[in-house]
Amino acid sequence: MRILLWDIDGTLIRSVKTGGYKDYTIPVLEEVFGTAGRLGDMHVSGMTDLQIVFEALSDAGITQDDILARAEVLVSRLTEEARKVTGNGTKFFELLPGVRDTLEALAAHPRYESALVTGNIKPMAQLKMELVGLDHFFTLPGAFGDESHNRRDLPARAAERIRKHLQLDLAPEQFIVIGDTPNDIDCAQHFGARAIAVGTGRFYSREEILACEPDALLPNLSDVDLVLRTLEKL
Ligand SMILES: [Mg+2]
Repeated sequence: MRILLWDIDGTLIRSVKTGGYKDYTIPVLEEVFGTAGRLGDMHVSGMTDLQIVFEALSDAGITQDDILARAEVLVSRLTEEARKVTGNGTKFFELLPGVRDTLEALAAHPRYESALVTGNIKPMAQLKMELVGLDHFFTLPGAFGDESHNRRDLPARAAERIRKHLQLDLAPEQFIVIGDTPNDIDCAQHFGARAIAVGTGRFYSREEILACEPDALLPNLSDVDLVLRTLEKL
């Protein structure tokens, strides 16, 4: 059995406009902390949502403790604002090529089960999956960006929940992280899981991804047979 731990942004979906999340994040940071700091200028691919906020506000004299103290209101306002700004989602997020067919093929395959492991805060991850109609594919509990600002912590957290949920003693190498950034590969390796990189992220070159030594690199998920053959070897 293999458990697939899916990243969201750049792997399953992307915002139609680069940096589209800033449309709902900047007004919420301004409302909650009085400033969005330097978020407007940041590239945040592969960072968790909390890490993004820490970095954006660090020069404005707002500490990680200040942010954690207001995490609850931040998470709920971000989700509300995202729901408002993204409308029905179709103009805001697009599915990356082959994603639905790949997830359908994997759902029908007895060797695989899927969960989300993403830097997104949980309600945001759920909202995005709901908007693009993928939510039913992730039948196992995952791990999310509101649990740690360090992506490295997330696979182990998901694995613990999944072992409990399935009542199975799964080894780290039975988990396969699928993501688009060096941070996805790093968090897999830190946990002892396998890593499949996909070339659909916006910010990293093929060379930068290969330098992180993923177990495989796929250009995208459009060739379902290639995805299945690649997973079979892991
Ligand atoms: Mg990503």
